[in-house]
Amino acid sequence: MLDIKAVRDDFPILKQQVNGKPLVYFDNAATAQKPKVVEEAIKTYYETINANIHRGVHTLSQLATDAYEESRKKVQHHIHAKEDHEIIFTPGTTFGINLVANGFGALLKAGDEILISALEHHSNIVPWQFACERSGATLKVIPMNQKGELIMEAYDALLSPNTKVVAVSHISNALGTINPIKEMIAKAHAVGAAVLIDGAQATPHIKPDVQDLDCDFYVFSGHKICGPTGTGVLYGKEAWLNKLPPYQGGGEMIKTVTFEKTTYACLPHKFEAGTPNIAGGIVLGYALDYLNQLGFDNIQAYEHELLTYGTQRLLEIEGLHIVGTAENKTSVISFNIEGLHPYDVGVIVDKLGVAVRTGHHCTQPIMDFFGIPGTIRASFSFYNTKEEIDILVEAVRKAQQMLS
Ligand SMILES: *Cc1c(COP(=O)(O)O)cnc(C)c1O
Repeated sequence: MLDIKAVRDDFPILKQQVNGKPLVYFDNAATAQKPKVVEEAIKTYYETINANIHRGVHTLSQLATDAYEESRKKVQHHIHAKEDHEIIFTPGTTFGINLVANGFGALLKAGDEILISALEHHSNIVPWQFACERSGATLKVIPMNQKGELIMEAYDALLSPNTKVVAVSHISNALGTINPIKEMIAKAHAVGAAVLIDGAQATPHIKPDVQDLDCDFYVFSGHKICGPTGTGVLYGKEAWLNKLPPYQGGGEMIKTVTFEKTTYACLPHKFEAGTPNIAGGIVLGYALDYLNQLGFDNIQAYEHELLTYGTQRLLEIEGLHIVGTAENKTSVISFNIEGLHPYDVGVIVDKLGVAVRTGHHCTQPIMDFFGIPGTIRASFSFYNTKEEIDILVEAVRKAQQMLS
């Protein structure tokens, strides 16, 4: 069990007032708040071992390099990757997907197919459109039902020997749907397709096991798991990372350079051109340590409690409809209120100290599917409370009174 009071003490920002009211932060699916250990680790890094990595013989460079590589190992163990060089540090999920999609853009040809799902974030749609434009491959979309669940029979029907890549989210950021990715990965492999999982929304709640899932690529962002912005991870199976061409050229990613020909460095350096976000990469490891100390089982159990309570309380509001009612979902509640625009509700609840996200959540096709301009999204984290949900419910009621 989590000691929520103690947990909240780890997050100084939660003690703030916004617009004269205590902050209720329910925009966790956009970015998570940072515990003190993370803030302090950034400061300590810059005050003690700041240096460029992998290139200096001097002591600080060695210390910084060791800390960076130790963080890579933490990530490796956290997601249970086989090798540490299968962990590529990136600036975030968007970068990781672009890296992989760009590589497939070079490997695919006309007649090949890339499958994505109706639930994808724009960053798991647009890079694949680029890959199709470059290669002549075709993009196909796994449809969903009215609850916001992917339709598995349709997925089965779409898979064929032409399918070369399947790219799906582990969990939907707009609706909270948890997709049956293990089953989907096995089915994709049965037709010889590679699978990329967008884990940006899963990693805050779940500890993924990439070997058990058997995915070929798994990407996520540091800032959504209490780490610094501008950090992220691309996991790829060694064989695939060797097959993909490099994404960016520059320092650190080469073995030899002449004006005639360059040979590439081995993994992971092949995909880490230039000076990376050294402090961020190191501190991402601290964020993982923090979450693992709380324990993902505890986090999940508590967040599920918040989801159940939040769902029940919000549904008491007349005219409120929840968008995304999958059987298997995480602590994200997207909703609309009859006759009101999500944006107007968002502005009023913000005046009352409650931070929610409104709009299409970078998932316009989902909004089009439901025929709505957007939703109000409350996404809960392990540091939120039922009392805060009560404040949200009151704020939404107030908005309803004021706007109708
Ligand atoms: C946030 C998010 C992304 C994009 O992550 P960035 O950190 O902005 O690169 C991609 N997919 C999903 C499902 C997300 O929630």
